[in-house]
Amino acid sequence: MNNERIGQAVTILDLIEGKQGDLYSTLKPLLIGEQTVAITRECIECTEDDFDEDCEICGGKCEYQYNVVIPWTTQKETIAMTFKYLLKIAGVDKGGKHHA
Ligand SMILES: [Zn+2]
Repeated sequence: MNNERIGQAVTILDLIEGKQGDLYSTLKPLLIGEQTVAITRECIECTEDDFDEDCEICGGKCEYQYNVVIPWTTQKETIAMTFKYLLKIAGVDKGGKHHA
């Protein structure tokens, strides 16, 4: 690993460990509202036996999808969990020591 890569790795580690300000306040404006999950619901107006092909809700498919934005709290938990496991996989202690 060359010095530039070591420098980048240390910078990322400093960010994760909060030595250069709050990582989450940096990430929040970049990530908030950027991820959605598609939810499928059955139409309240139609059944498989009695449906309207021009139904405004489902268009005759009897079910419809809508997107729910993943809350920042959930994104933050995912980030925290990811870092925790990445550090574990990389063999970095909670104290920041790196196993040779
Ligand atoms: Zn419908």
